[in-house]
Amino acid sequence: ALPVLAVVGRPNVGKSTLVNRILGRREAVVEDKPGVTRDRVSYPAEWAGRRFTLVDTGGWEVDVAGIDARVAEQAEVAIALADAVVFVVDATVGSTDTDEQVVRLLRRSGKPVVLCANKVDGPAGEADAATLWGLGLGEPYPVSALHGRGTGDLLDAVLDAL
Ligand code: GDP
Ligand code: MG
Repeated sequence: ALPVLAVVGRPNVGKSTLVNRILGRREAVVEDKPGVTRDRVSYPAEWAGRRFTLVDTGGWEVDVAGIDARVAEQAEVAIALADAVVFVVDATVGSTDTDEQVVRLLRRSGKPVVLCANKVDGPAGEADAATLWGLGLGEPYPVSALHGRGTGDLLDAVLDAL
């Protein structure tokens, strides 16, 4: 079976945009309102000649009721099934309490994690990305999923982790 790469993070950080960028086509649903991807969705993907299964997930909110709890459950399942995880943070927002809770869950999973500092659309955002060293997940890769900036370096790091 192909290695599985799961993309997780809070709602609206740009997970589905990143998935589309990696796929090279618009297949994952992108929405301005949070929480559109309710379930795990898997896509066949390839980078630098290596094939893998790419999993988009719903946003992860910890300790919330109803549908959001189900979304969180899906993300947790996705991590459990993954060989490696891309954890997406919105660098323009910085790390939130929820992000820090997710970091604890990721650590507990023992899975390799690559930290994507998304929405770094230009050089001015690099400093925002650097603050994410504070999450303790190693190097934050500054990325603009929207424009494609930095995604090559991110994927190279992901393939090293797979
Ligand atoms: P998800 O909920 O994490 O899957 O986030 P989406 O991929 O649906 O994106 C949420 C919103 O953020 C959309 O309006 C995207 O266009 C926007 N977005 C995603 N990536 C970027 C980025 O790199 N830069 C900017 N400026 N906006 C982005
Ligand atoms: Mg989404």
